[in-house]
Amino acid sequence: MKALALLAMLVAAASAQAQFRMPNIDINKMVDTVKNVGKAVKDIDEPEEIAIGKDVASRLLGAAPLVANAGLQRYVNNVGRWLASQSERPDLPWHFGVLDAPEVNAFAVPGGTVFVTKGLLQRMHSEAQLAGVLAHEISHVLRKHHLKAIQKGAQTALAGDALQQAIKDRSGLARDKLISLGSELYTRGLDKSDEFEADRLGVVIAARGGYDSYGLPGVLQTLQASNAQDSTLAMMFKTHPSPTDRLGALSERMQPVLDQYATQPQLPERFAAETKKLR
Ligand SMILES: [Zn+2]
Repeated sequence: MKALALLAMLVAAASAQAQFRMPNIDINKMVDTVKNVGKAVKDIDEPEEIAIGKDVASRLLGAAPLVANAGLQRYVNNVGRWLASQSERPDLPWHFGVLDAPEVNAFAVPGGTVFVTKGLLQRMHSEAQLAGVLAHEISHVLRKHHLKAIQKGAQTALAGDALQQAIKDRSGLARDKLISLGSELYTRGLDKSDEFEADRLGVVIAARGGYDSYGLPGVLQTLQASNAQDSTLAMMFKTHPSPTDRLGALSERMQPVLDQYATQPQLPERFAAETKKLR
């Protein structure tokens, strides 16, 4: 039964991909090239990135556990891994989790772990919208946005040797400080330019995965139309540029891609079936 459901999911994902007739999008033409990433994080290699991400993720999971629904978690992982498998870092240990929280939020930790809250899933209407949000978060990992921010913060807070020790040694006090700094980042947010870049790259990745390119803009429109006083939106609005600004930036830079891939599948029925226990 479970294997059949997974097979159906994979077949459906493959057929979504089959409808995607222009697979050769050149991401570097669509979004800023990132020649400086290697330099900015030269002290942290990929195993260290993954280890730091694991520690930050477990700290964040202490604040909000995963939804106890294996089918839902498997579904979100299937969509996320499908998208990540076609990214420039397909071999990271990608994990996707739905947090049992009413707040509207999604975030990525270094090394390939992505969380989306129950509150955000409940406001989505299709798998293309889920794909748009996951692709935005995948983009943060691809571009090492959080890793760079954590390193930058740590360089100020920890002297040179302590920073090196915090990266290499997973048990010391310096490490604890590094992970605390990393966790706090999720209440402050990234630079706005990182968010706009993740929006642009996310649209490309979702389109490449075979989804309607308007998935992410659709979610932003829902947020734009929401009551700004709604307390479940406070953290999202505090840590991100406004939905209006994000939609404007997407329209300005990505309109050709949005138009070209707008007729790809949205898969609202499958999304509704897979998430119905949340409603
Ligand atoms: Zn983001």
